[in-house]
Amino acid sequence: MKLLNERILKDGKVRPGNILKVDSFLNHQIDPVLMKELAQEFKRRFDGEGITKIITIEASGIAVSVLAGLEFGVPMVFAKKTSSKNLDGELYYAEVKSFTRGTVVDIQMSKKFITKDDKILIIDDFLANGQALLGLINIVKQAGATLAGCGIVIEKAFQDGGKIVRDLGVRVESLAIVESMSDDGLVLKD
Ligand code: 5GP
Repeated sequence: MKLLNERILKDGKVRPGNILKVDSFLNHQIDPVLMKELAQEFKRRFDGEGITKIITIEASGIAVSVLAGLEFGVPMVFAKKTSSKNLDGELYYAEVKSFTRGTVVDIQMSKKFITKDDKILIIDDFLANGQALLGLINIVKQAGATLAGCGIVIEKAFQDGGKIVRDLGVRVESLAIVESMSDDGLVLKD
């Protein structure tokens, strides 16, 4: 997506450990106008799929997922990374190894918010090794819901996640694809 590619080239910073820092528009400060454009693009790509719910993982997936929820006219549910007194009733759990922290967390989602009748679109900010998506896909399976696919803002194609998830037969649509990254900068797919 041209607009997103331009923004990444303008504001993205390559950090050690294959991290792309985009905290001025996606991961810390959020650009709502850009988020709306991204959400509209997800809607174009998954239009007609009969999506009933969008799910993501806290925290960075939430902003764009809410706006996607507005475009599709459906609720958005985010998996929580920590337990809280606010999480009551029965929960789905899935193990996720965090790419940025290196720790393993049990993500949690209340069973009452996804059912077997749902057609789910998973959205996340980044796709690296695929752990976050695999955790969310696991929850969709536990619920017996149907997975329409995954919408990713930035996929790092030089890491394995895209292949792992697509090899499962899951449709993955990424709005920007980073082909390579180094201290000298990054190369984006057109
Ligand atoms: P994966 O689970 O695919 O290995 O990593 C995806 C998750 O790790 C995303 O939810 C995102 O929060 C984080 N992540 C992975 N790579 C990057 C990156 O290059 N930059 C940032 N800011 N977050 C990343």
